[in-house]
Amino acid sequence: MKDRRLLMIPGPVEFTPEVLQAMSLPTTSHLAANFAEVFGQALERLREVVRAPGGQPFVVAGSGTLAMEIAAANLIEPGDRALVVNTGFFSERFVSILERYGAEVTVLTPPVVGDTPPPEAVEEALKKGPFKLMTVTQVDTSTGVLTDVRTLALLGRKYETLVVVDGVCSVAGEELWMEEWDVDLTLTASQKAIGVPPGLAIVVAGARAMEAFRKRKTPVRSYYADWANWLPVMESYEARRPIYFGTPPVNLVWALNVSLGQMLAEGLENRWARHRHLSAAFKAGLTAIGLKLVPVSLQKAAHTLTTAYYPEGIDARLLGLILEAGVIVASGRHSALGDRYFRVGHMGAVTASDILATLGAIEWALARSGYPFDVGAGLAAAERVLAG
Ligand code: PMP
Repeated sequence: MKDRRLLMIPGPVEFTPEVLQAMSLPTTSHLAANFAEVFGQALERLREVVRAPGGQPFVVAGSGTLAMEIAAANLIEPGDRALVVNTGFFSERFVSILERYGAEVTVLTPPVVGDTPPPEAVEEALKKGPFKLMTVTQVDTSTGVLTDVRTLALLGRKYETLVVVDGVCSVAGEELWMEEWDVDLTLTASQKAIGVPPGLAIVVAGARAMEAFRKRKTPVRSYYADWANWLPVMESYEARRPIYFGTPPVNLVWALNVSLGQMLAEGLENRWARHRHLSAAFKAGLTAIGLKLVPVSLQKAAHTLTTAYYPEGIDARLLGLILEAGVIVASGRHSALGDRYFRVGHMGAVTASDILATLGAIEWALARSGYPFDVGAGLAAAERVLAG
C-alpha cells in the first residue's frame, strides 16, 4: 500500500519532482559560474512572473515574513504614515512590522471578516493622507479573501502612495500585472504558488519604490534587510558575475529557477486559469454538500485556497479523519473565526485529481462523523465543473 499523504494546506504545497530533484543536487559554490547562470536566470524570470519588466527582484534566504520586513525596512522611515487594507491575520502582521520600523499606521477593517474594506473607504482614507505607502494583501491566507489589487493600486497612484502587495499566497496563482496595474512592490515566498520548498523571501520593487529607497534620509534599520547590501548582489548575479554579501541558499535558488521555468512553460495566463478552474470545482463540491465558505462572495474568494466553516454538529476533529483518509488540510488561523472553519490550499502544481482526492477524503470524513448529506454529491458537483 502506498504510504503517501497529499499535502493540501495553504503552503507549503506539493512540489514537482523536478523541483525536488533540484533540491537534492550536489551543492555548488555560490560563486560558481553555473550557479551565477541559474541565479541570474531566476531573477530575470521573476520579472516575467510578476509582469514587471522594469522591476528590481530580490531573492533572499528567509520566509515570507522577511519579505514583508524587507518592504517595511527599506521604504519606511520613522514618522512615515502607512495605510493597511486589512483582510485578515497577515494584513494585521503588516501593521506590527510597519510599526516596528517607526510608521504611524492607519488600519482599514472590512465590515465583516470574509469581506474587504470597500474601495470608497480606501479612497476616503487616502484623502486624509498623505501616506507614504499602502499595503494590500492580495490573498489573505487566514480568511481566504481575495482583494482587488488593480482597483486599489489605481487609488494608490491617484493619491501618490506607494502600493505594496503581499502576494505570498497569490503570486503565480492569481492574476497580477505589477507594472500595468501600477503596483510599486510585490512580495512573496517560495512555498506556495511559486512551487519551491520554504526558505526564500522574494521581493520585486518597482521604480518608484527604488526611488523612495534612494531618497531616504535615515539608514535602513535592519542590516540584513537593507537593499544597500542586496542590490549590488542581485545586479551582479544578473550580469552573471557572482559577488558575496550573505551566502545564498544555493539549492533553493536552483529549485526556484526550475519552478519558474516550469511556470513560464505552462504560461502565466494558463496557470492563473488553472487555479480559477480548480478552485471553482473545489468550491462547488464543498457547497454542494452544504458547507459555507468564509469569503462573503465567490468574487471575493481566493483561487489559491478555500476556507469553509464546519457544518452544524462538526468540529475540528474532522481534520484528523481527513488525515486518516490520506489528505492533509489546515485548521483556521483567524482569532475572530476561532476553530469554526478549516482551510484547503490548492495552488502550484495542483491537479484535478488532487481536487477530487481531497473532496473524496472530506466526504468520507464527514460521513464517518455522522453528518447527514448525499454522499458523492460534492464529487459530482466538482466533476461537473471540471468537465465543463
Ligand atoms: N503573508 C501571507 C499572505 C501569508 O500567507 C504568509 C504565510 N502563510 C505570510 C505572509 C508569511 O509568510 P511566512 O510564513 O513564509 O513567513
